[in-house]
This record gives sequence, C-alpha cells and structure tokens, in this order.
Amino acid sequence: MIKLTPQRSIALVSAFFLMMLCLPSAYANWHTDSQGIMGTNIRAEVWHASDDIGQKAVLAVMQEMERINQAMSPYIESSELSQVNLKATKEPVAISQELFDLLKLSVALSEETKGAFDITFASVGFLYNYREQQKPSQSDVENLLSAINYEHVVLDDEQRTVFFKHPNVKIDLGGIAKGHAVDNAVKILRDMGIEHALVTAGGDTKLLGDRKGRPWIVGIKDPRKSNKQAIVLPLENTALSTSGDYERYFEEDGQRYHHILSPQTGKSAQEVQSVSIIGERSTLNDALSTAVFVLGVVDGMNLINRTPGYDAIIIDNQRKVHYSNELSP
Ligand code: ADP
Ligand code: MG
Repeated sequence: MIKLTPQRSIALVSAFFLMMLCLPSAYANWHTDSQGIMGTNIRAEVWHASDDIGQKAVLAVMQEMERINQAMSPYIESSELSQVNLKATKEPVAISQELFDLLKLSVALSEETKGAFDITFASVGFLYNYREQQKPSQSDVENLLSAINYEHVVLDDEQRTVFFKHPNVKIDLGGIAKGHAVDNAVKILRDMGIEHALVTAGGDTKLLGDRKGRPWIVGIKDPRKSNKQAIVLPLENTALSTSGDYERYFEEDGQRYHHILSPQTGKSAQEVQSVSIIGERSTLNDALSTAVFVLGVVDGMNLINRTPGYDAIIIDNQRKVHYSNELSP
C-alpha cells in the first residue's frame, strides 16, 4: 500500500483538480429534475451553457406538466376534463382549443385503430381501482359496455363544444395526455434555445438532439422483472413510448387486471406484455402504444407497418420480442 505523506496528498489533490479543469466537462451545464406529477415520475435533463437558462428550462418542463395535470386529470374535480365528464351527457360543453384538439385527435386515432384506442373506455374504466384491487362486476361491465364507443363523442368545430350522445359516457385521456405533455414540454425547451434534452413522463420519453456528442440511451423495461431492462436503445432526436401491463395492476385468481382495457370487452387486454412505439411525436407514440397493446401482435404490427415514421417493439405473452419492418434486421 502506498503511504501518503502530506506533500504527496497535496500533489495528488492538485493533480486531480487540474485534471477536472482540463476534462471536457461532461457533467457541467447539465440540469436535471425529477418530480411526481400526473401520477407518474417526470424527469427532465437539459443542457445549456448558461446555468440560469438551464435551470429555468427544467422548471418550465415541470410547470407545463402541472398545467396539463390541472386541466386533464380525472382525479381533480376542477379539471376541464372532469367538468366535461360532469356535464357533456346533458348538453354540449364549450372547451379550450387545447382540449378540443386533443379530443379530435383521439377520435381520429380511434378510427385509425379500429376502436382499439378509445377515450370512452373510461365509461367502464372508472370502476377499476388498481391500488385498491377493485374491478367492476360482470353486470356493471355488461350494463356500461355500450357506452364505450368513440362515436358517442360529438365535437362541434364551430362552437368548439363536446357532447356525449350516450347517457353513461365518460372519457379519460390517460392514454394520450402524457405524450401530449412531453411534446409540449420539448417545444417549450426548443423555443428557449435548448438543443440537448430528455423529457420523460412515466413511459413517454422525448429526446431533443443528442446527449452532447453521444446518443441518449433509453430502456424498455423487462415486463416481468422490475428494475431490469429488456432492451436498451441508443436514440437521438426522436421519441419513444412504452405501454406495459406491469405499470398499474393487481392479480386475482391467477388473472392480471391492468390499466389497458379492450374497448370491446371492458376488460384488460391480454395478448402482450409491453409495446413500445418509436416516432417523432410523443402524443402519437403514447396513443399508438396503447392501441397496439389492445390490438396484439398481428393487427398491431399491421397498423404500425402502414404508419410511416413510426416503429414498434412488442414483447408478447411468451416474452418473445417482435420488431416492425423498419427495425427488423
Ligand atoms: P401509462 O404510461 O400510464 O402506463 P399507457 O400509455 O400505457 O399509460 O396507457 C394506459 C392508460 O391509457 C390507462 O391508464 C388509461 O388511462 C388509458 N387507457 C386504457 N385503455 C385504453 C384504451 N383502450 N384506449 C385509450 N386509452 C386507454
Ligand atoms: Mg400510451
């Protein structure tokens, strides 16, 4: 063992600081924050030469997440979404342009996914409470199933209103709002002059630029081994969303009750364990990952293979990994 004399340790310490000064500062100017918002973990990593701008940028991400949470959470009574659910079965409700656009996109995605993505899933979905291990009874499902149909959602462009044609309709944007929030947050960063950033909201991640000279490394979780990654991908300037049956679920009598519901049955979709979608727009990745989860491997891959610019990685029930055409070796 080397014995350090005081002179020698001073020399070593100085050498260390000298080295730090000469290193291309890999960690300098990165600004990060993580917060629990929208019932999930939000993370922002931003690079900017100015500490002041970097810090403001990270704060702006969190503020945008909280703004959207206040507007679109079904758990906040005053949210615009809750107000719509309260009133839209009785009369057309005037809503913000932002919510109107997101509802319009959601309905268009229902059409494109043959109803696999459907925000009226909540007409039955509201009776699940995964934390409390609660699920609707068979008769509840039967009574409310006809309320799940995106065609019940009537959007009037001129009046900018929403009306539900069926008395039991409820909507929930849990399958698209986080992706929308991530897109918005990255746009805010870009407008601030940021060129390198990562924004994550639960399973939805978007990357602005690269990680200063190297790609971002984004993981797809192993659906059955928490804290283990099944796949890691080097990515830049794109976005990735993952939907999994392990995020919110409980088990009863050997059956897994999780948060992605088939609009046809009002019950958890069972064909796959996880779906990741890679594409430019986080809003679409988010909705498509949910839709492909419901559609399963064959119909899901068909959908993605005819959607230009969007790719899929599916982990099926046998833990086999499937890649869309563009990603296949
Ligand atoms: P998360 O990132 O919360 O795991 P996902 O993108 O996997 O979200 O979507 C799951 C959420 O989407 C559910 O919590 C629910 O709010 C909503 N959802 C469930 N089933 C559907 C469906 N068939 N169509 C649209 N949204 C759905
Ligand atoms: Mg989704």
